[in-house]
Amino acid sequence: MKIAIVRERFEGENRVAATPETVAKLVGLGGSVTVEKGAGLGSRILDADYVAAGATLVATADAALKDAEIVLTVRRPAAAGLAGVAKGALVIGALDPYGNDKDVAALAKVGVTAIAMEFMPRITRAQVMDILSSQANLAGYQGVIEAAAEFDRALPMMMTAAGTVRPAKAFVMGAGVAGLQAIATAKRLGAVVSATDVRPAAKEQVESLGGKFVAVEDEEFKQAETAGGYAKQMSAEYQAKQAELTASHIAKQDIVITTALIPGRPAPLLITKAMVESMAPGSVIVDLAAERGGNVELTQPGKVVEHNGVKIIGYTNVQGRIPTTASQLYARNLLAFVTTLIDAKGKVLAINWDDELVKATMLTRDGAVVHPSFAATPA
Ligand code: NAD
Repeated sequence: MKIAIVRERFEGENRVAATPETVAKLVGLGGSVTVEKGAGLGSRILDADYVAAGATLVATADAALKDAEIVLTVRRPAAAGLAGVAKGALVIGALDPYGNDKDVAALAKVGVTAIAMEFMPRITRAQVMDILSSQANLAGYQGVIEAAAEFDRALPMMMTAAGTVRPAKAFVMGAGVAGLQAIATAKRLGAVVSATDVRPAAKEQVESLGGKFVAVEDEEFKQAETAGGYAKQMSAEYQAKQAELTASHIAKQDIVITTALIPGRPAPLLITKAMVESMAPGSVIVDLAAERGGNVELTQPGKVVEHNGVKIIGYTNVQGRIPTTASQLYARNLLAFVTTLIDAKGKVLAINWDDELVKATMLTRDGAVVHPSFAATPA
């Protein structure tokens, strides 16, 4: 059971899909783990550490992938690079299928079974496999660190012999996994924190972290939480009322962190140019939704831009800016899922195709795109 780990090809991606810790466990499960030279360097993992964990080191991606039955990856690999893998091999990673139908169809065409980890159901058994949570949590933390680094004032209240300095005001928009961690991190740094979300359940969570909740709490808001716990698209009327409330709030903030996402859709626009112009020079906005189109009108993905003295940080892959921690958790998520696919006694792949986790995450199989959200795509 050959398991391949290659160096990520996506520009600026320093994470890796397996660490020495998870490699040792995969070997224990009967895997023969092959790692491309240098695969872990971006996360400060040396080739020798993989070898010590039981992996075989090879010089090229092709050599790692040749006849592999499982390919573990961070980003969606190009189908062209997968020619050497065994037919029916599992390609498991953050495959980012939405809006990338052609690439998904190409994966189907090379005959791999592609598993999109972002579709993992949010049920108790799969929490340990939830890459969205493990990575969003780190993005929320790192987003605040980036804001603090760009902010030219202190965050906490300082009572000194030279007088008192007021604490910074931080506002977090979207209080899911990333937002809640951003609230906690900003609180720890001493900021006065408020937050908003379209999900009513978020109110209690924000308050339990010591944040003030800011939202129009009408009937639509109370109905808004859907079965899966994700946000739904709100009516134009609600969005207008909420925008008015948040606009007046944003004008008084020093730091704003936006994290609002709606699965399968572009990120909602929350901060217009006019709202940015209402903020005092020196304020900082971090748009953690930059990779999905952004929550801020002026965001430029991958860049820090300044408008009227307000900095807007649009870094993509913010969790990837702390790659060592991000890889550590991501690799554990993948290991937990792979463990469910292996017969530990026989040390062979034994996939239960009826398992709800497999059904929910499987994008392609036997040459076709099989996920219900993409099945219309010709292979
Ligand atoms: P997400 O990344 O999809 O979105 C981030 C947040 O943005 C969400 O809280 C969402 O409600 C909010 N949002 C969307 N549109 C908005 C708007 N216009 N204005 C303000 N906020 C907006 O969400 P997530 O972090 O993946 O979390 C979604 C939910 O799932 C949360 O309740 C979370 O606690 C829950 N969750 C459950 C599990 C589990 O049960 N295993 C695991 C992780 C998360």
